[in-house]
Parts: sequence; C-alpha cells; structure tokens
Amino acid sequence: NIGESQPIIRQLDDAAINRIAAGEVVERPASAVKELVENALDAGARRIEVAIANGGKTLIRVTDDGCGIAGTDLPLALSRHATSKIDGSDLLDIHTFGFRGEALPSLGAVGRLNITSRVAGQDAASISVEGGKMSPVKPAALSGGTIVELRDLFYATPARLKFMRSDRAESQAIGDVIKRLAMAEPFVGFTLRDVSNGGEGRVSFRADAETGDLFDALHGRLARIIGTEFAENALRIDTSREGLHLTGYAALPTYSRGSSVAQYLFVNGRPVKDKLLVGALRAAYFDFLSRDRHPAAALFIECDPHLVDVNVHPAKSEVRFRDPGMARGLIVSGLRHALAEAGHRASSTVAG
Ligand code: ADP
Ligand code: MG
Repeated sequence: NIGESQPIIRQLDDAAINRIAAGEVVERPASAVKELVENALDAGARRIEVAIANGGKTLIRVTDDGCGIAGTDLPLALSRHATSKIDGSDLLDIHTFGFRGEALPSLGAVGRLNITSRVAGQDAASISVEGGKMSPVKPAALSGGTIVELRDLFYATPARLKFMRSDRAESQAIGDVIKRLAMAEPFVGFTLRDVSNGGEGRVSFRADAETGDLFDALHGRLARIIGTEFAENALRIDTSREGLHLTGYAALPTYSRGSSVAQYLFVNGRPVKDKLLVGALRAAYFDFLSRDRHPAAALFIECDPHLVDVNVHPAKSEVRFRDPGMARGLIVSGLRHALAEAGHRASSTVAG
C-alpha cells in the first residue's frame, strides 16, 4: 500500500535530536563521568572532585578549579555543536579531549543538569536544563571553577534505565574511568566520593597531584593505581619511530596476569580501548609469556594529531591510525627491545 499513505518527512526538534545523540554519547553513568571529567581537564583544572550516589544513577557531581564558563556563555555550553575547543577548520588538529560540543546537551536531554561556574574576575552564574528545557541564567555563589551536577540520569528514557547494572557495578565502571584519566594526567589531583544514603561520603579513590618530572609522576601514579608491585616490576619505555613516540611502563614477564585487566593504552593523552594496540602488546610479549598469561602495561603513544583520527565514534575510545602498521611496529619493537635488555641485565647479574 505504498503510495496510499505517503510518509511525511519532518524535522525533529532539538530535544528529540539531543535524546538520540545521547544514546551514543552516554551509554551509562561512567560515560557521563568521562565526559564531565574530560571537560574539567580541558578547562585546565588541577583538582577534580567527583561525587556520585547510587552508582551515578541518581547523582553525578563534578567540581573543578578550571577556567570556568562565562555566565553569558552558559546557554551556548548547553547547545548542540557549540564548543570553545575547535573552529571546525581542521578536524584532525585536535588537542583537547572534547571537540564535538555534544556532551552537555546530550546529558541535559537524559537527566536533570545544573551548571554553576565562575570565570576569574566575573560573577558566578548558573543554569539548569531538564527534559531538554533550559532555565534562564541566574546569579550564583562560587569562588571559582565549575560544578556540574547531573541528577536522575535516564529518568526521561526508561528503556535505557532498565539496562543499568547494580550500583556496585556502575560505581566500579566510574572508578575505572577516573583511574584511566588519572594515569593520563598525573599532575592533576582526583577524588571520587560516594555520597549515597545521605552519609558524609566514602572516598573510594584519591590521587593527589604528583610532582617531579613526568616519568616520576607517572610512576608514582601507576604505583597508586595499578599497585606498588607493578611499579617495582615495570620497565620504563621511551622510544620513537617515524614520528610516533612511545612512553610509559611495561611490567616484566614475571609480573604477568591471568587476565588483561592491567592494560592501559593512551593515544595523545586519551585513554583508548583499541584492538590494534592490545594486539601489538600481546605480540610484543609473545616470546616471553605463555598463552594464558597477560602482560601488564600503561603505554602512551604521542604523535602529530594528523597521524591519527579520534573522530571514529562519539565516545572517542577508538582511534584510527593513518599507518596502523607503524603503530603496531612501534609497540612491538619498543617493548621487545626493553624486555630483551632487561633479560640481559638479569642474566649478567646472575653471572656476576
Ligand atoms: P565539548 O567538550 O566537545 O566542547 P561539551 O558539550 O562537553 O562539548 O561542552 C561544551 C562547552 O562548554 C565546552 O566547549 C566548554 O567551552 C564548556 N565547558 C564544559 N564544561 C566545562 C568546564 N568544566 N569548565 C569550563 N568550561 C566547560
Ligand atoms: Mg566535552
């Protein structure tokens, strides 16, 4: 009966568009935390405090001491495709976590969102959005930085709410997100607090800002997050190849794991879950580990942003290298070299 009732094409309204986009950007509370903490880092924060309740389902509050948002800009911050981070002329020249201008409008479409912020030298202001409807900007009290509060995530999308896991599982996923970002930014202090049940709030993770040079700071942070045993058994990696730079720490084969949980990979400061890089890590240890053991490592690839596309998925956890073989080769040869050298050192010590 096509032709009988001809379908009508309509333009969706902003609220519907934002709810659709939110489905990709905000999968669960941990993805909301990731977006908000990344915003704080992009704002140059040195201290970031995250408070959650009920696994982030009823409350996520991120407080930072970054540059703040001007009161007049608050409605723009909540508008789709509005960003202070790129001008759109070069989508491969990206130096910030964010650039799509989607997180805040998406969060405002699926939860109750309030932003209070203050730019140095200006008055503090706040704005709220609920069900996609923005409030007027109001005067507020805040000494500096930004507080973003997200309540009742997915209250407007019950189907999504059903997919949430237990408070415990969601809290753990949030902890994971914060730990990865804390590894990427060792000079920033992070706190995660659970304020469920009206209590004072149990601190479930704290990492004070590290000091010293970057390697020392990273080493300290990895000891804090992965464990001192990892840090004591980790080889320092620092190698380059054709414009790609690999740094970080990789554990000796003797400190291997029965699962791949202690594998942390970063590309240009961004935590990624990338099959290519995980495969390269495995391949590097191939001669040193039995098949049921997994290497532990925190590795950072730095390169010209033009050599890697981070705009593969809205959550930006996958990347696409212009030359995947080169990225793989860098990891495999860099780690093999370090492992072989460590082996030599160990055997020459034994030999006296
Ligand atoms: P994006 O991060 O991709 O730019 P968002 O929707 O996450 O998009 O944020 C929109 C804008 O709001 C940002 O570009 C930034 O200017 C501002 N903003 C968001 N969070 C903060 C924050 N914590 N501190 C300062 N500015 C912020
Ligand atoms: Mg953002």
